[in-house]
This record gives sequence, structure tokens and C-alpha cells, in this order.
Amino acid sequence: MDYIPISMVKEYTYCPRQAYLKIMIMREPPTESMKYAKQVLNTEKIIRIIREQGIQGEIKLEVPVKSTKLGIVGRVDAVVINGSKAVVIETKLNIGSRKKLYMKYNHVLAQATAYAMAIEETMKVTVDKILIINQEREVTITIRPTPSLRIWIERAIQDMRKHIQNQELPPKTTNKAKCKACYFKDICPP
Ligand code: SF4
Repeated sequence: MDYIPISMVKEYTYCPRQAYLKIMIMREPPTESMKYAKQVLNTEKIIRIIREQGIQGEIKLEVPVKSTKLGIVGRVDAVVINGSKAVVIETKLNIGSRKKLYMKYNHVLAQATAYAMAIEETMKVTVDKILIINQEREVTITIRPTPSLRIWIERAIQDMRKHIQNQELPPKTTNKAKCKACYFKDICPP
């Protein structure tokens, strides 16, 4: 696998084992983390919410992005470009608070950070802000793609690539609740 889909970076931070099994078995089960999937973009509403947040600049929707340095590809919901700066827009269901984003839904945080890094390389801009939008509830969470978040993602991608190349099972999630609803629970080795 030359380029890892950014959606798999999200899966890997949700459960490394699950992402690995999904890639190796080549199945697309409805994993637990997909419950927090993208909402269908309501373009008008998204643009209004972006402007209400005081974010100025050109809004580009459904932007393909790629990082050669990290070996990742994806398509981000929206990017707002203002000169050499950019804001990543990611729409998600179920995300209602910053605390949940950093705890229970940190795989969403991982995905958004990976998008930010890929956008910087693709569009030659600096991403200084990520806006997570729950368009149904009209809740927004603003985060900064800090150096520590970036390092976390770089390490996750390196780790994932190493396990894929060596065909070596990565560790299981430590959160047993995730296993209960997991598609792979019957074939996931101890
Ligand atoms: S059963 Fe648990 S550890 Fe195994 S893949 Fe599923 S979520 Fe991950």
C-alpha cells in the first residue's frame, strides 16, 4: 500500500487491530467508528456556519488531498483558504463537545489532524485551525493542529505502515466496549 487512506488513520487510532484486519482482509464492515461518519454536506448550512464563526476566505468543498511525506491520501469536506493560511472543515455526527473529541472520539481528532497535514503539503498553505461541525445540532468545535497532535499522527502512520509491511498484528484496543460491537470480534486473536 503506497498511500494509506486518511480514513484508515482514523480507524487505526480507534483500534489498531481493527484497521489492520480491515486492510488485510479487504472487507468494508460497518465498524463502530463509522457511526461517527460524515454527514451529507448541506453546503448552504456549512457555508453559513463557517461565516458565523468569523472565518473569511475562499471556501473549497470536497477537496482531494495527498501527503507524499506521510504517504496518506483523502478528501476533506471543506477548506477555507485565506492567503497563505487555511482552515480545515470537517463535518461529523455525534460530536458535541471538545472533551468528547479529545477522549471518546479522538479518532475524529486524528483524522482531522491528518487532513490538516495533507492540506498543507497539497495546497502549500499553513493550517492554523480545524473546525469540526455537527451541522445537525449546529455545534462547532475549534482546535489547533498543535505540534503534539502532529507528532501523534506521524507516529500512528509510521506504526501502521510498519505493521502492514511486516504483516504483524498490531495491539488490540484497551477499550473493551469497542470489541462488543466489532465486526471482527470472532476472528480477532487474543
Ligand atoms: S475485537 Fe476489539 S481489539 Fe479486536 S479488532 Fe475489534 S475492536 Fe479491535
